[in-house]
Amino acid sequence: MTHLPKPMLILTLAVAFFPTFHTQFIRDVPWKGPWDFLNTIQWYDKNPDLSSKNPWVFKHFDEIQLQSCLKFRKEPGWIENASMIAVNFQPANTPNLDGCPDNVLRQYNTSVDAYIKDGISYKDSLHLFVHWLAIGDSNLRSIADQYLERTNNKPAWDLGQLKFQDYTETPVPYDVGGIMHMPCDETTQCRPKDRNKMFSVGNNMLTFSDIRLINMAYGCHWTCGVDDYQRCYQPNRGLPNPRDCSKCLCPDGFEGPECTDRRKALGSNGECGSTLTATYKMQTLKINLPKPASEGKPNVCIYHIQAPPGKQVVVLLDKFNNEGPSATASSDQACIKHCMESYVEVQTERFDLAGPRYCCRYAHLNNKIGELKSKNGLIIIKVNSYRENTHAEVRFKLE
Ligand SMILES: [Zn+2]
Repeated sequence: MTHLPKPMLILTLAVAFFPTFHTQFIRDVPWKGPWDFLNTIQWYDKNPDLSSKNPWVFKHFDEIQLQSCLKFRKEPGWIENASMIAVNFQPANTPNLDGCPDNVLRQYNTSVDAYIKDGISYKDSLHLFVHWLAIGDSNLRSIADQYLERTNNKPAWDLGQLKFQDYTETPVPYDVGGIMHMPCDETTQCRPKDRNKMFSVGNNMLTFSDIRLINMAYGCHWTCGVDDYQRCYQPNRGLPNPRDCSKCLCPDGFEGPECTDRRKALGSNGECGSTLTATYKMQTLKINLPKPASEGKPNVCIYHIQAPPGKQVVVLLDKFNNEGPSATASSDQACIKHCMESYVEVQTERFDLAGPRYCCRYAHLNNKIGELKSKNGLIIIKVNSYRENTHAEVRFKLE
């Protein structure tokens, strides 16, 4: 069965049976995005000599396609009068290709060069791929100032991007911890207003909030029915998967038909993690997660720490020892710089948004993040090893 967009039907049902639906899911301004999700987005590899040295890069198309209404198809070359993404790999020493270059907007009847550099990291290439879909940096969204202190108010990237992103402002929650959020460094000069999230900015893989950004920017949420939204949205704010509306796109810590089961496999390493129950006696969760053997998706494990009904869990990081550059970080800035290499994230309430993160021994020893407490009887611990091995101990008990 195919799932065609049925906005009028959904709107009618929504108004009749689900009064909060409109404010949650329907954008209130017309969308003018660059790619049409009803048509397949064609792409071709303009420089196979270099792309073959970065074999994991084109898997990004599959990863995005499996979790959105966008469809991609590889073509052998440019097709006359088609609108295509020409993935154009450049040598590693090409100037002006650092950071995140401009997004690619659709230009009718032409192929648009999407420049990418030989030797680019998994993290940076994924960020770039999402830009090719004309999704801008999250830190440049107009609501960013509600969440960030900034000393640099100049928009770093082109205004077309900003304008497009603004169409998605109303329904998409702001997350400092997605891959589309630039790190708070010398360029962006930002700092989360929530001090517990000082080390939670940016990511090294697509998170649920990035997937949600793509889905809502492209109106993918119009392809499933109201019942699918209700099932996936309560209580953990998932979305139905437009590929198969009977399934959900869940926040990273969850999976299952209602986004309430613990996610067993999220990273390169397959199934791991566990569900633990807190008692009044202190327990210790020992974490040892090595980095992947080669450049690519990080290894990730998800732990749930749950309390009996009406009770709350408190957690405290007891040890944090990375093996890699962040091990020697000795200031906030130095630590922030390495926060993408490996981290332990603790979610206490909003499981669709990044929680406080431990990413350096320095931050742990200086008690930058103290004891954390659940709001609804569940703590989610997300461990991520990208270019460093993570060793940590988390103590937990009932409040
Ligand atoms: Zn960017």
